[in-house]
Amino acid sequence: MASAALSCQLSCPIARPNFSLRRSIPGSSTRSATQSFHTIDSRLRLVCSGKGCRSVVAMAGSGKCFVGGNWKCNGTKESIVRLISDLNSSKLEPDVDVVVAPPFLYIEQVKSTLTDRIEIAAQNCWIGKGGAFTGEISAEQLKDIGCKWVILGHSERRHVMGENNEFIGKKAAYASSQGVGIIACIGELLEEREARKTFDVCFQQLKAFADALPSWENVVIAYEPVWAIGTGKVATPEQAQEVHAAIRDWLNKNVSSEVASETRIIYGGSVNGSNCSELAKKEDIDGFLVGGASLKGPDFASIVNSVASKKVTA
Ligand code: PEP
Repeated sequence: MASAALSCQLSCPIARPNFSLRRSIPGSSTRSATQSFHTIDSRLRLVCSGKGCRSVVAMAGSGKCFVGGNWKCNGTKESIVRLISDLNSSKLEPDVDVVVAPPFLYIEQVKSTLTDRIEIAAQNCWIGKGGAFTGEISAEQLKDIGCKWVILGHSERRHVMGENNEFIGKKAAYASSQGVGIIACIGELLEEREARKTFDVCFQQLKAFADALPSWENVVIAYEPVWAIGTGKVATPEQAQEVHAAIRDWLNKNVSSEVASETRIIYGGSVNGSNCSELAKKEDIDGFLVGGASLKGPDFASIVNSVASKKVTA
């Protein structure tokens, strides 16, 4: 915790970001970054301008880190009563945006019993306006019941339900047009990492969001390596930071420097109350998306509080 980088995150004066972040990767193309990623680790440490911290103008309007809890297909009315009671009695530091994503069925129960301090996300939505789409939920309906966010592109939807980039892009475009915030998930499979395709995969998934989104104002990117989700095998802080910094660099080159500096990039994959603090020290980790540990109120609160005060605003 005593690292210079962290104290800088807490106290650095904010300057306009200088995105000539890569110190010694030759060229700036996606390809060269991808090729360098697994081979020259030390050269992938990104160096911010100024005093070694990420210089960010303001994060997504709020200037706060973001922690989401993805409950997936878990819970009963009874277990949710207990979880809500734990969450309501937890001390959550004020300077973190906190969201939970219950199964659709329980959103109403959660909405009516959970403290307003925590916002609600859905775990999915349909690609467009509602109608004759059996089993689907539209973005308008999410808005109607007070869901401010939706998780899109989660690895389980990509790899279990078979959703592809184009389909996910359509969902993102429509949800965004309805004013629903998007938690845009990207991440590589183990075999893709082993084949040195981490950057290629993440950038393709990111591009699908970028091509579809009319605005990045209400978007949080969740980098979730698939091999880390629900496996207990968390990415090391260095592994996560490398990809987060590369994502920010991609946004800078392909969207805009404002979007690169303002968009929160959160990490997901086996985050828990014990490993969150080390991850939170990394300068490009702006919070977490949490699965299993979000079902335990005290653990989730610890994770939220691990990023408290980490904002990097002017
Ligand atoms: C997730 O499902 O988004 C996730 C990160 O799960 P877990 O924390 O259980 O790995």
